[in-house]
Amino acid sequence: MTKFHVLTLFPEMVLGCLNESITGRAVRNGIIDVKATNIRDFSENKHGHVDDYPYGGGAGMVMRPEPVYRAYRSAACEMEGEIRVIYLTPQGRLFNQKMAEELSKVPNLIFLCGHYEGVDERVLDRIVTDHVSVGDYVLTGGELPAMVMIDAISRKIPGVLGNDSSSEIETFYDNLLEYPQYTRPEVFEGESVPEVLLSGHHANIDKWRREKSLERTYDKRPELLADARLSEADRRYLERYIEEKQRQA
Ligand code: SAM
Repeated sequence: MTKFHVLTLFPEMVLGCLNESITGRAVRNGIIDVKATNIRDFSENKHGHVDDYPYGGGAGMVMRPEPVYRAYRSAACEMEGEIRVIYLTPQGRLFNQKMAEELSKVPNLIFLCGHYEGVDERVLDRIVTDHVSVGDYVLTGGELPAMVMIDAISRKIPGVLGNDSSSEIETFYDNLLEYPQYTRPEVFEGESVPEVLLSGHHANIDKWRREKSLERTYDKRPELLADARLSEADRRYLERYIEEKQRQA
């Protein structure tokens, strides 16, 4: 069972979200374990304060090292085997699907959520193995990034999704975007679903989906194609598609 443990000032926020939906079902089925520890519980201060003024002056407050360190030790001592400690920070390596896949193989993941201006550097140096960002913008805390990461990592753990193959043919698999999806009704506002999808001809459906995937990736995220796994047929299709688009422009 993969263990996720979030060190945070807002444990209810994290547990409320992750105990719902697909991650919630995985928790109930014993495939993943999600815990959240309130760093405030480890404050020595009688008011439960965990932050203080920054040395050297400047705006905002900084999370003190001792409560963070103690919260980390209490989480880590419940774990066996490899532990990765992830500090959510806008200064970290950008989170992506490849990282989600890599982290899904680690048995114990501790997420440290910062607040205010961040966390005292000395405790980060001692406990953090990975500094990770969810995007080039600044949020008020690390809780949303931790939830984003746990959600994406969980989906790659066998048994979490009802049908494991559904995470193998989706967006970013092969570094391509997924083809468009349709469901009932067959006609919506006068528009029918593409005919090939009604044909029952699986080879033609697979071919159509692959082509749509290539088209979408070229149209929306062309930079992904540089690292995509493309067959000769894919390359030829893309060349024709690009030529046609340029001709129409
Ligand atoms: N002063 C910090 C800086 O300039 O790097 C930003 C602190 S931010 C207001 C407070 C906390 O939110 C951070 O410690 C981090 O845990 C979290 N956070 C903010 N933006 C994030 C992002 N893009 N990715 C991951 N965590 C983020």
